[in-house]
This record gives sequence, C-alpha cells and structure tokens, in this order.
Amino acid sequence: MTDIRSITDKLCSSGELTRDEIIFLLANRDLETQSYLANKASETARKYYGNTVFVRGLIEFTNYCKNDCYYCGIRCGNKNANRYRLTEEEILACASHGYDLGFRTIVLQGGEDAFFTDEKIVNIIRAIKHGHPDCAVTLSIGEKSYESYKAFYDAGADRYLLRHETADPEHYAKLHPSTLSSENRKQCLYNLKEIGFQTGAGFMVGSPYQTLENIADDLLFLKKLDPAMIGIGPFIPHKDTVFAGEKAGTLELTLFLLSVIRLMLPTVLLPATTALGTIDPRGREQGILAGANVVMPNLSPVGVRKKYDLYDNKICTGEEAAECMNCLKNRIGNIGYEIVTDRGDNINFKNRKR
Ligand code: SAH
Repeated sequence: MTDIRSITDKLCSSGELTRDEIIFLLANRDLETQSYLANKASETARKYYGNTVFVRGLIEFTNYCKNDCYYCGIRCGNKNANRYRLTEEEILACASHGYDLGFRTIVLQGGEDAFFTDEKIVNIIRAIKHGHPDCAVTLSIGEKSYESYKAFYDAGADRYLLRHETADPEHYAKLHPSTLSSENRKQCLYNLKEIGFQTGAGFMVGSPYQTLENIADDLLFLKKLDPAMIGIGPFIPHKDTVFAGEKAGTLELTLFLLSVIRLMLPTVLLPATTALGTIDPRGREQGILAGANVVMPNLSPVGVRKKYDLYDNKICTGEEAAECMNCLKNRIGNIGYEIVTDRGDNINFKNRKR
C-alpha cells in the first residue's frame, strides 16, 4: 500500500497503520491531506466529546529539578534559572482560585524536586480533594517509584502526565544525560496505568535529531500503551540549554500529528498545548480544529510564571488566571467550541470505581 489516499482511508476507518505506512504518510503529507485528516479528526473528537473543550488549571509549583534534560530550561545545569517553590498554602490558594473560576481539574506540575517528599505531595493532594471533592487532581512531577505513585493514587490523585519524550532509546540518549533512560520512563508509564491513573504520555515535535522513523515509533508506542491522555507540542529552544541553537518544531507537523493521533486513539484526551500557542498566535485554536479537545491555562501566581521557563518566549506569563480563562473562552468560542465546567474525564474512565 503506497498511495497516500489508501493510507489515510485505512487510518480513518481502522485507526491502525504499520510503521512503514506512518513513515510514508509523514514523508508525503501535503496541505490537502492535512485538511482532510483535520476534518476527520475534529469530527471524531466531536463524536465522543461534543463541541466541548475541557480546561485544566495548571499550577507550576516548583522549578527546582534534579535532572539535566538537554532541552529543558529548568534543568539542574542551568545556573541562570531563577529558582522558586510555592508553599503548600500558596498551592492551595491557587487551587481554590481556580475552582472559583470554573476549573474542575487541577494539574500540579514541577521539576523533580526532592523538597517535595511523597508525604508533602500526599498532603497537598488530600487537601485539594478535601476542599474540592468534585475536582480531579493531575500530577506531573516526573519519574517516581511504584510505591510513590501508589501513595499518590491512594491519597486521591486521579491522573498523571509523564511524556515518554521519545520511544527510541537511542534518540532518548541524545536528549537526556545517561542517568535517565527510555526504559525507566516507559516502565513508569506502565506502573501508572496498572495502579489505575488516567495516564498521559507524549513527546515533543521536532526535537533535535528526531526522524520520521522516531515519530512513527512514538505513535506505535502510544497505540500500544493506550493512554487516557496524550500531550504533544513543538520543541522550542531555550537559550540556556545544550539545544539553544536548534530549530523549533513546526506548527504544520504538530497539527498534522494531532490529527493522526486523534484518528489512531479516537477517545484520547488531547491538549492544544501552550508550546503550540507559543509558536503561533492561533496555535491552540488550530490545534482544536485539528482534533485536540483540552487546553491547560496557567493558574500559577503571576510572580513566578516567568520563572517556570521551559523554553523561550512562553506565552501567558503576565496575565492573571481570570484573564487567561476569559481569553481562552473567547478564543474557543470564536471557533465554535465551548469551554465547560467539568472534570473532563476520559470517557473510558467516567464510570470507573476507584
Ligand atoms: N518534571 C516533569 C514535568 C516536565 S515539564 C516530568 O518529568 O514529566 C513538561 C514537559 O515540557 C516535558 O515533558 C517536555 O516534553 C516539555 N518541554 C520541556 N522543555 C521543552 C522545550 N524546550 N520545548 C518544548 N517542550 C518542552
């Protein structure tokens, strides 16, 4: 099968492609294929989730990190990073403010910061759940042991975001120091799923050294893992990293992959990320029109936002959370979708007992 039309037909009807078919599709993609797949993908998202876009309130609670990922602005080797940690009280105040604005998912994201012991994280999860029992809590705090993940889940955390970054161990080794491995990252994802989390994986589009073969392997890994959520966004260089001089990933390829992912995993929760909004002023809207159905505005206190500096020129670092919410409501409304006050669970988890 080597013509693009039969490959897109197969993708739309079965959600399955071979590695060679994915590579062919990516290598031969054109504007016509992109808009065809975007239509099919957004139709698929609407079939399962309607005209709604789910919002997640993101609290970036620490930028201390023990890791030295070559692409990331808060890597431990960046001596120019202006480090901060929010106190438990500040985190809870952000969560309550987010609740008042209509958020029913709170995402706690941070570097791998030993200051936040399992006990502290457990206490924060419990406090948010106690104050707002109708809120989902999502964690995005990196690689931990099975026991730690289990403790977080038992404390009430519902979801966990851990991008696999790249499924190919050789590519992984070009993006990370040897203290980190693709194998461990994947094992963490399997552990999270086994424990019962709605689990999110994903990767950067256009990261240094990434090939179309790598992307095909990422898509096949995602298909096999079958996560509840997938986060992809363009790689964007950060001035104080090893990759300062590398090119950013493109809007075009990110949108194309959002559509392919929606068609391969029709019910997955798929954000139009801040990085996508950073490389193009209408990136997030275009992401929704390509099949995404989640946005994750920032709830962190304005004073620390610029410090959670993963990549250069990150958007929405100067506005209050309420302004971000209003801005997004308008943007999403303008393209015919609606932001809803809802936990926004993956439909396969909606009635699952914990
Ligand atoms: N410490 C947590 C959170 C990491 S930050 C963890 O390990 O999961 C969340 C995501 O931002 C990362 O998974 C990575 O894919 C993305 N990211 C980091 N640096 C980036 C960059 N320069 N450009 C685009 N995305 C980046």
